[in-house]
Amino acid sequence: MAQTFDVVVIGAGPGGYIAAVRAAQLGFKVACIEGWKNAKGELALGGTCLNVGCIPSKALLSSSEEYEKVGHHLEDHGIAVSGVKLDLAKMQGRKETIVTKMTKGIEFLFKKNKIAWLQGFGKFVSGGASYRIAVGNETVEAKYVIVATGSRARHLPGITVDNDLVCDNEGALAFPSVPRRLGVIGAGVIGLELGSVWRRLGSEVTILEALPNFLGACDEAVSKEAWKQFTRQGLAISLGVKIGKVTAKKSGITVEYNDKDGAAQKLECDRLIVSVGRVPNTDGLGADAVGLKVDPRGFIEVDGHCKTNLPNVYAIGDVVRGPMLAHKAEDEGVMVAELIAGQKPHIDYDTIPWIIYTSPEIAWVGKSEQQAKAAGLTVKTGQFPFSINGRALGLNEPTGFVKIVADAATDRVLGMHIIHSRASDLIQEGVTTMEFAGAAEDIARIVHGHPTLAEVVREAALNVDKRSLNS
Ligand SMILES: Cc1cc2nc3c(=O)[nH]c(=O)nc-3n(C[C@H](O)[C@H](O)[C@H](O)COP(=O)(O)OP(=O)(O)OC[C@H]3O[C@@H](n4cnc5c(N)ncnc54)[C@H](O)[C@@H]3O)c2cc1C
Repeated sequence: MAQTFDVVVIGAGPGGYIAAVRAAQLGFKVACIEGWKNAKGELALGGTCLNVGCIPSKALLSSSEEYEKVGHHLEDHGIAVSGVKLDLAKMQGRKETIVTKMTKGIEFLFKKNKIAWLQGFGKFVSGGASYRIAVGNETVEAKYVIVATGSRARHLPGITVDNDLVCDNEGALAFPSVPRRLGVIGAGVIGLELGSVWRRLGSEVTILEALPNFLGACDEAVSKEAWKQFTRQGLAISLGVKIGKVTAKKSGITVEYNDKDGAAQKLECDRLIVSVGRVPNTDGLGADAVGLKVDPRGFIEVDGHCKTNLPNVYAIGDVVRGPMLAHKAEDEGVMVAELIAGQKPHIDYDTIPWIIYTSPEIAWVGKSEQQAKAAGLTVKTGQFPFSINGRALGLNEPTGFVKIVADAATDRVLGMHIIHSRASDLIQEGVTTMEFAGAAEDIARIVHGHPTLAEVVREAALNVDKRSLNS
């Protein structure tokens, strides 16, 4: 007889495992299906985020940042360092240790919450009052199903990704040596982050981007500053290119492309990263067997509460519309578990923060000045630089600024945009303010510790009314 559960979650990435934990906390009998195998061939929970995404990339970003700092940025502090040596195998080992700690942590959470881990890939077999799902040779049954099957790297037609010479995120996080010349196709978040890792470790990095604008989703003031900083650091970025043939041989890779003026160009490199977006994982899910609606691009169709067209079937995270971000997947996981329990949760999709972990980091929430104006809103803006903030100077991190976009009539914060080495942590003040429908004046009237980087957020808020105190 098939094992029966109240809730079966398909996929144990940040969306799925959090949904499973929350559903178990709410008293349901829960199983989570996951068949991911890591590079060692071991089954692992955690999905893209923990295994080949957020966590390993941030580990390498931090290690490479330390390496660059020791090599180049301690002199200003009066610290002379010589004989800096890179041990890439150890750096990669540290990354693996962090990944293992995190993925094993989910195994612990599953045990603690009595969640059954069904090892393998799940496929809908039949629907009705309850759903039957096959996992290998076994079939399980559940009244509620949460699909959290995530996404995988998008590849380009005609370019074979072998994850040795030509890599997506999986290979690019595991290079055994630092390539002398690294090519990157795509100047999005992942391309910039991974390009930065290898540039800091010594690669000559060239990034080819098809779009004519750099970081088009950011506020223009931020993307301009980012362009200035990244190109100064040595990232060679070409915009508006059209990629042609890619020839990969052990002796080197040739990328033929047309530049923004249409002229034929060639990039020669030793390794190539293809980071041109991600596609949802819905093949092999058996969507047709139960009539689960999937759009032409492969995303499961859902409403604002992640309900699919089928009763009691929800879908969350990268496999549905919206930003492909781990925290968005997690919050959707909590929301659907609580909906199943009859609660009334919701997510404010307008206050989801975006973060790019380059140096400096870039973070934003809400609308850019340009987006707000395009939406017909009348806005006022406040901006303040880190270059005159005592804490930033002490840290030797004076680059960047905070910009706040507020409604001209009501002062309500519509967006916050930060470019600075600690932007990822600072943006949360903008998220909280917007979640509570706060105004720039609210931030300006809150006491901020001194000396802190957060004082720049406050000064930017004061600057919305052109009354910054320290400029
Ligand atoms: C290099 C990189 C860096 C990133 N950095 C960040 C970051 O810093 N911050 C951030 O917010 N986001 C980041 N992301 C994005 C983030 O990883 C994703 O948004 C997040 O993992 C999505 O979570 P998910 O649960 O929807 O899917 P996933 O994490 O993709 O997990 C889905 C899981 O479902 C499993 N699965 C698929 N099909 C089946 C099936 N039929 N049966 C059972 N299991 C199945 C898969 O094996 C996988 O384990 C990064 C991504 C990459 C690639």
